[in-house]
Amino acid sequence: MLGAGEVSFREEFGQWVVDEVSNQSTGYCPDVGSWSAVADALERAGVDRPDRFTHQVVFRRCVSCRQVNVVREDDFVCVFCDEALPSDWNIDR
Ligand SMILES: [Zn+2]
Repeated sequence: MLGAGEVSFREEFGQWVVDEVSNQSTGYCPDVGSWSAVADALERAGVDRPDRFTHQVVFRRCVSCRQVNVVREDDFVCVFCDEALPSDWNIDR
């Protein structure tokens, strides 16, 4: 799986380290599981990285109205039509 989102870097003792990394990408809406692809890419680049996204966004597509939702505080309810959202990432369906 590909990762998408935002990464910022800072310099520390002459080396680049990850300051913040997130899966916040409105185009691709990646699953939080895309972390492994991001981590691999950072490791290949030889950059010190955190153990997880420093800012992580949970995207779900409503199966009822097809709108993409950003799930906040584990509240898996569509903000557009009040239908329950699926527990698994489904943006590509
Ligand atoms: Zn909906």
